[in-house]
Amino acid sequence: MRIGAIEAGGTKFVCGIGNEDGDILDSISFPTGDPERTVEQAMAYFRSRDAEAIGIGSFGPIGVHPDRPDYGFVTATPKTGWSGFDFLGTMKREFGVPIGWDTDVNAAALGEASWGAASGLGSCVYITVGTGIGVGVYYEGRLVHGLLHPEGGHVLTRRHPKDGFRGICPFHGDCLEGMAAGPALEARWQVKGSVLPSEHEAWTFEAFYLGQAVANVILMLSPAKVILGGGVMQQPQLLPMIREEVRRNLNGYVKADELAEGLDAYVVLPGLDGRSGLSGALALGLRAWRDSQG
Ligand code: ADP
Ligand code: ZN
Repeated sequence: MRIGAIEAGGTKFVCGIGNEDGDILDSISFPTGDPERTVEQAMAYFRSRDAEAIGIGSFGPIGVHPDRPDYGFVTATPKTGWSGFDFLGTMKREFGVPIGWDTDVNAAALGEASWGAASGLGSCVYITVGTGIGVGVYYEGRLVHGLLHPEGGHVLTRRHPKDGFRGICPFHGDCLEGMAAGPALEARWQVKGSVLPSEHEAWTFEAFYLGQAVANVILMLSPAKVILGGGVMQQPQLLPMIREEVRRNLNGYVKADELAEGLDAYVVLPGLDGRSGLSGALALGLRAWRDSQG
């Protein structure tokens, strides 16, 4: 089978073709510009490639409920031109194949559950720590939407006692994203996160906030695996520090081997190594194709 996949990020689009085993056979990437031109670029890629289904994992917020008028639209994003854009409808008018649609982070969670770090498990939570913080939830075989879709990047966290930074979320100031996303690191320390030395205090704060978020996810959803991805997680010292904070926050309350000696295998980096989003979009396409077969 040939399945198309679009990882539609706020910074860049990645389009690819893969198969039902999750192998990506070909892909291209281009910057995210205005919606008409960007989606036309994606459509041009697929026109000659005979996809039997397509999956789209999109930056949000997006409409994910098929029975609502905003289904398939990018909704209240500050990204110029995209708010109110009918992404899914534009694709459907061009291609007569089943098209799967979800948030980029839900797609990444599905990708990891299909072929990555959570493969074979019934649930996982995927947290991306990049330009923003996003949380995708795969639960009992389904991607969680609920009222709209989870917005776990904006959960509220307790402040570190030594932290005077106000946070940069335009809505909440010091929510998780406002304190711990890549741009927050940069605003706080006046340099890009990638150049901060591994022993810098920045990572103590970073682990403090992300460790709370992970502990809260465990307490709220009890997933079978928590996966941390995104640019900021490329700091190799960070993951062990986050696990320590998770241990400290839970303080032995939740009794599971996975949260004790098994923690290193429970809070993990993505198994798909930079391809979680695109593989997840592929998995969305595959699901759409299977649904269309009845
Ligand atoms: P996006 O979230 O836009 O899809 P990324 O997941 O790559 O993209 O995240 C980009 C953010 O991650 C930027 O804020 C960047 O400064 C930060 N970042 C990228 N690499 C590193 C690194 N090695 N260490 C810390 N921060 C990084
Ligand atoms: Zn916020």
